[in-house]
Amino acid sequence: MRLTDDRYSGERSQFELALRMIRHEARTRTIRSCTGLSDDRIRKLYATYFRDTGNTVVKRRRGKSPRQVTRYVKTPENQLQATTLVALFCAGLLVRIDGDDRVHACWPRPDVEFGHRLCRAYETYLLLHENANLSFANLNFEWAWNLLQCISHNEELYLAQCRGCESRYVQDAYALDDQTCPACSIVTPNKPRAGLPGLAPA
Ligand SMILES: [Zn+2]
Repeated sequence: MRLTDDRYSGERSQFELALRMIRHEARTRTIRSCTGLSDDRIRKLYATYFRDTGNTVVKRRRGKSPRQVTRYVKTPENQLQATTLVALFCAGLLVRIDGDDRVHACWPRPDVEFGHRLCRAYETYLLLHENANLSFANLNFEWAWNLLQCISHNEELYLAQCRGCESRYVQDAYALDDQTCPACSIVTPNKPRAGLPGLAPA
């Protein structure tokens, strides 16, 4: 009986995560890698809970996740949002930042718990930017997913330190870095102020 209960609660958690991710318009392969559900079951879940109920707000995205890292650093606003997400990944224990500002993945591979933590980080990001004077959800769920992959492997993106306020921020490894965090460059370009909290090395 115990085994059956565990199996039932495990499956329920998989389905809950799949629905949560579908709502964020995650791609099928992203949902599959976290839930372990087959593409067919994910399609059926989408059809049952979204398409066949006339819910046209949620769309299904196909194909690969976006890969261009320039999206995260194109403007100080984008950079600020990417940095906020990395701070939330850190708070959700998806990544760890060491004393040299290098980022380490805390999860050997995606699973259901990882997926729920990623959703929580992304939902908090949406709440934080809901009323901001920025395009809503500048970074969609797949961009957040890709950011987590890139920053976890220190590929093309790294955490730079601001010379004004000493906070860390997401920077393109191949770009010229003027050591100014997005918060300082947005607020007062010539007079740096306290920037982003939450990215001190652990
Ligand atoms: Zn700064």
